[in-house]
Amino acid sequence: MTNPPASKDPFVAMVTARAEVDLRLSDFHPRSMLVSPVHEICRPKFPVIDYHNHLDSQEPREVLKIMDECGIERIVNITMHTGQLALDVIDKFRSVAPDRFATYGWMDWSDVQAPGFFQRSVQRLECLIEHGACGIKIWKDLGTKIRYPDGTLLRIDDPRLDPLYDKAAELKVPIMYHIADPDAFFLPIDATNERYEELAAHPEWSYYGSHYGKLDLLAQRDRVIARHPKTTFVGAHVAEHPEDLAYVSQLLDRNPNLHVDIGARCAELGRQPYTAREFFLKYADRILFGTDLIPDLEMYRLHYRFLETRDEYFEYPSHASRQGRWNIYGLFLPDDVLRKVYLENALRLLPKT
Ligand SMILES: [Zn+2]
Repeated sequence: MTNPPASKDPFVAMVTARAEVDLRLSDFHPRSMLVSPVHEICRPKFPVIDYHNHLDSQEPREVLKIMDECGIERIVNITMHTGQLALDVIDKFRSVAPDRFATYGWMDWSDVQAPGFFQRSVQRLECLIEHGACGIKIWKDLGTKIRYPDGTLLRIDDPRLDPLYDKAAELKVPIMYHIADPDAFFLPIDATNERYEELAAHPEWSYYGSHYGKLDLLAQRDRVIARHPKTTFVGAHVAEHPEDLAYVSQLLDRNPNLHVDIGARCAELGRQPYTAREFFLKYADRILFGTDLIPDLEMYRLHYRFLETRDEYFEYPSHASRQGRWNIYGLFLPDDVLRKVYLENALRLLPKT
């Protein structure tokens, strides 16, 4: 540790002192000395539907035990399989508890470069829904990795995908979009990146230098949502822009056909509690509870603490590499908002069981 030379004035020396600290970031685990109320919420105020999760490798009966213990009524499993494997996943969960699980399909791009792909996508959607899927998810590989035969990227707003969205409207099932990623993933992985440790653990999550910038990707997505007003869209991860809730608010204002889920974004929402609370109150009918994390008691309970209490400065639910070095604040949502976000909004989007 080296200190710069201090001023001769003791007060100036005190307020200008700095240190070059030689401590590995990975070894730095400060403990908050803040004394403030802690409310552990074991069960949510209302039954909860986790509208965004991935259970493909989980044993349904094991997941049910966790669900029963912490008030999760239903989990929407977004399968990451395609083809027959996806149908098998639907069956696996339906055979154990049809009223406790629902399954989203996953867009199959495997033959995107083969003739007839766009027509086949429509047929695959029909097949999935016929088999009991409750929607289909289109992931961030669209706009960043999926390519035309000539090597250029397939645009999100490519009109050849329009029949797919029209078919979803006809079948009355939503399209879930996870387009792009957190803002920090589009910036260099350096000392100014607020998700430095997360990106260090997952360098493959970086989109720094991607062909389309983040705002361009969102703009392409937004155009699709606008030109398909009869299709219901779910913008995963707060429409992938919780860093800028004003943007998401305008998007929701312009498009009544859009919902958003909060999966894996408690960190973003909980670090701006005033704005996030207003956002929940204003768009109570459009926000879906979702976690995008392996089902686990503590994980769910942290979500309840975030949404139900006014506890201050506590750890957000997250994957192991964390999302950034900050803590969150509870939103103490009123009952009518909680009921909608936890349950009622998802029920509207799910097929009647
Ligand atoms: Zn997910």
